[in-house]
Amino acid sequence: MGFKVSDLGEFGLIEHLTRFIKNNDQSIIRDFGDDTAFVRLGNEILLFTVDTLVENVHFLRKYPPEAVGWKLVSVNVSDIAAKGGKPLYGLITLALPKDLELSYVEGIYKGISQALDFYNFSLIGGNTTSSEKLCLDLSLVGTAKRVIFRDNFKVGQKIYVSGTLGDSLAGLEILLSGKENLEPYERKLIERHLKPVARLDLSSIVEKFASASMDISDGFLSDLSKMAKNKTVKVFTKNIPLSEELKLYCSKRGKNPINYALKGGEDYQLLVASDIDLTLYGFTLVGEVLSEGGSKIVDEHGKELKAKCFDHLK
Ligand SMILES: [Mg+2]
Repeated sequence: MGFKVSDLGEFGLIEHLTRFIKNNDQSIIRDFGDDTAFVRLGNEILLFTVDTLVENVHFLRKYPPEAVGWKLVSVNVSDIAAKGGKPLYGLITLALPKDLELSYVEGIYKGISQALDFYNFSLIGGNTTSSEKLCLDLSLVGTAKRVIFRDNFKVGQKIYVSGTLGDSLAGLEILLSGKENLEPYERKLIERHLKPVARLDLSSIVEKFASASMDISDGFLSDLSKMAKNKTVKVFTKNIPLSEELKLYCSKRGKNPINYALKGGEDYQLLVASDIDLTLYGFTLVGEVLSEGGSKIVDEHGKELKAKCFDHLK
């Protein structure tokens, strides 16, 4: 019996496959392993990223198609925002079941169009094919003034996060529960899951002040552990920003909102290390880099916080 991709898992597979690629081009500053690839072209830094939404993996057919289109664009823009860049041009691939209602694809395109207007860039081409499951893929090119990696951490640096965390997971739970007669806070949480807003508004702050930066897509702890490879990082769990809606959701259901904030994915907020006090720019101080080595995250009492990385292939 041969090996299966699930034997390696998502991250093992990426490491394995990228060994087959030998990039000798001097203009490539960083290829695989960050939110975007970085390429120098003349005086400019180009950022390249791609993301895919697959039916039943990332969304369900019963979701409003406008939200699916909006989210496809936003999750890509989020990676560009994390690098302090701005999006320039997108290319789309649509893989569609042949019996898909035309009105559903039109809905997706309305959402894409709204997002393109909102983030102010253009979709300039694409590709269409048939598929058993609806699958949407967007590649995006952006530009940046300087290079900001996700793992350029220094001991003593503070770690900041934008917005609030955990809302998207709570919204997903409400969606999946099929609950009807939703209360306003429940609608808001669902909105955060279905229509996340990429923090392109903070891109210029990242560009000016970040030492390291990435967006939170898999979850705070999971993404922080990727960022802080070979470092020990302390997290101030009491500082983790929580929305009133999440607190209400958790208090009504006897759950701990911190767990949602630490482990929930798809919040698309920014995680930034900086020497500058970013609380002046609306970020929340959530941690600091304690020491070299260790590759672990601890709370304010020194207790290790385990990041359970979401793995698409396991
Ligand atoms: Mg990312």
